Amino acid sequence: GEKTEAPLKLEDEITSGECESLIVPEDGGFDLLIVGAGLSGSVIAERCSKELNMTSLILDKRDHIGGNCYDFVSDEGIRCSKYGAHLFHTNFERVWEYVQNFSEWIPFDHRVKGRVEDENKELKLVPIPPTRETVNALFSANVNTDEEMQKWYDEQRVVPKSEDGQPRNGEEAALSRVGPLLYEAVFKHYTKKQWDKYPEELDASVLLRLPCRTTTDDRYFSDPWQALPRRGYTRIFENMLLGDENIQIRLNCDFFELKKSNALPKHKLVVFTGQIDAYYASLGMPKLEYRSLEFENTYVEEPEDGYYQEAMVVNYPSSSVPFTRIVEYKHTPNQPSEQPLPRGTLIAKEYSTDVGEPYYPVPNPENRALYEKYAALAEKEKGVCFVGRLASYKYFNMDQAILNALEMYDNMKENGTLEPKR
Ligand code: UDP
Repeated sequence: GEKTEAPLKLEDEITSGECESLIVPEDGGFDLLIVGAGLSGSVIAERCSKELNMTSLILDKRDHIGGNCYDFVSDEGIRCSKYGAHLFHTNFERVWEYVQNFSEWIPFDHRVKGRVEDENKELKLVPIPPTRETVNALFSANVNTDEEMQKWYDEQRVVPKSEDGQPRNGEEAALSRVGPLLYEAVFKHYTKKQWDKYPEELDASVLLRLPCRTTTDDRYFSDPWQALPRRGYTRIFENMLLGDENIQIRLNCDFFELKKSNALPKHKLVVFTGQIDAYYASLGMPKLEYRSLEFENTYVEEPEDGYYQEAMVVNYPSSSVPFTRIVEYKHTPNQPSEQPLPRGTLIAKEYSTDVGEPYYPVPNPENRALYEKYAALAEKEKGVCFVGRLASYKYFNMDQAILNALEMYDNMKENGTLEPKR
């Protein structure tokens, strides 16, 4: 039932602060205490309620649901995301079908441009991931067919020096795909800005997130389903959680504080979706590394032609500017339909930092080894299930987070951790 832009019954159903006003279920407690109202926690609450009739209390320390997917309509009338651009794309039919339950979806093939330094240090606007157009514009190449592009890559590529020929880190991954020219222009410095590490200090998988193509296909993702929710991501969470008698939510609620003061309501199982090292903070082990983002938001009153830039996302891989990319939300097709778009436009300059809300685990061998120590503790932890990007320290995309939560749910149903109530 998504008819209007206004949030669904938000005030009635989501209360913040103390848990005293909770309506404790008849059997004396909640089946699940879920920490975090992001994708992972919401999927588990929704499935447990709809399929098993189980009750959940969701706590979140923020003042909104939706985790880092949270979006809203700005005062100027532009739908924007509090935590940066979120482009839904998936290859998993199960996920695509599942998300149909909570939103209408508008097809949207994400295309990214980069403002990249060419061989003369001049900034050019080119497609990212690199296409023929990119190499022609940057390196005065003359590549016009798939075969020529293949040949260009073949001449550029550096085969990894490892025994099995597989790239051992991000630098080898990028060099083995695109060679040194594109590596220097597009990947090396962007990566340093994003992670405060050079690609050689990161897993190959980080750099392999971007496709490498010989065709003119300039889409950022290759997945068959790429779309945006018609009324934004927040509405998806509202449709998943609100109006469900089995689910209660408390915002501005710090799980650890409530736990310390013995103020948590009774529950059978904890589903923890926060940072796994925060859960074990009292043990004094080294902390896992997470990257955060900061946004410099600007409303441009009178942009030429109505827009600030040529695409929703323009990357700045050059080390000559401190930010990594600029997002212009007005380009998305899921802007509010109730009112005309304003003349002006909202842009968000994205800076990467190591302080603030965690966004990204930092995939490399050191962090993985440390994470394994936490995972071993989690394995033995009774009555707690760790789910999601922060708790399993994995660089999940939204669809992967949803699939992971659905599979965790399947497993817990299978092994009897979750018991249906009818
Ligand atoms: N990357 C890059 N240059 C770009 C875009 C991406 O070097 O123009 C590298 C960089 O290391 C980045 C990774 O590829 O962290 C993954 O990029 P993606 O856009 O998938 O990151 P996200 O959107 O998750 O922040």
